[in-house]
Amino acid sequence: MAEARIVWESVHIKIVPCPRCKGEGITRREECISYHNNDYETITELCTACDAEGRVLETFTHYKIEIDNSWIDHKTPTKWEKLNGRTTKDIYKIK
Ligand SMILES: [Zn+2]
Repeated sequence: MAEARIVWESVHIKIVPCPRCKGEGITRREECISYHNNDYETITELCTACDAEGRVLETFTHYKIEIDNSWIDHKTPTKWEKLNGRTTKDIYKIK
């Protein structure tokens, strides 16, 4: 059986603009208010993905794995979390 070994690991933690609201902190959607006149109203709501902060914490881990004498790249799926009051300072502590 092939033996796999992690050669190198890099944790990516970064504050990025919220992918859902594009950093605005609010989301907009069009809602039809009158089918007869084809009238639409723009409904604005606070973004629930980032608690209206417009920024989220983006994390993934990048691995280099040695298997059968060759190296392969592996990246975990990107996760986005609410900042919950965390700042750049806190991120440096995690790193
Ligand atoms: Zn958002």
